[in-house]
Amino acid sequence: MADCIFCKIAAGEIPSQKVYEDESVVAFKDLSPKAPVHVLIIPKKHIQSVAHFQAEDKDLAAHIFVDVVPKLADELKISSGGFRVVMNTGKNGGQTVHHLHVHLLGGRKMTWPPG
Ligand code: 5GP
Ligand code: ZN
Repeated sequence: MADCIFCKIAAGEIPSQKVYEDESVVAFKDLSPKAPVHVLIIPKKHIQSVAHFQAEDKDLAAHIFVDVVPKLADELKISSGGFRVVMNTGKNGGQTVHHLHVHLLGGRKMTWPPG
């Protein structure tokens, strides 16, 4: 999608520190990390948010959560200590980039409730 920074990152048009890529997904380090490990996992396809998943996206959603999240958590060595997965969604959810992204955060003890 034109003027979407995460579409541009997925296409390599804006540089990022990629930690993973396959045919449908890219993961890269957050520009402003909120934990020692903070990566964003995005679909290459532009989907606005988790509220905009369509039936045709079921395989992609499963791929992100069944394959990519646990694999990256292992590779980034946050599996055993525990980690947090966050999807800020829409205005009240605090979403600032309107291309679906999964925050994968770890390496420190998280607090609850979120702000
Ligand atoms: P949101 O607030 O929408 O849940 O998260 C957007 C995230 O994207 C923020 O954590 C922000 O630091 C990150 N971000 C925004 N622009 C860029 C960018 O150009 N490159 C990278 N690597 N991260 C970005
Ligand atoms: Zn996009």
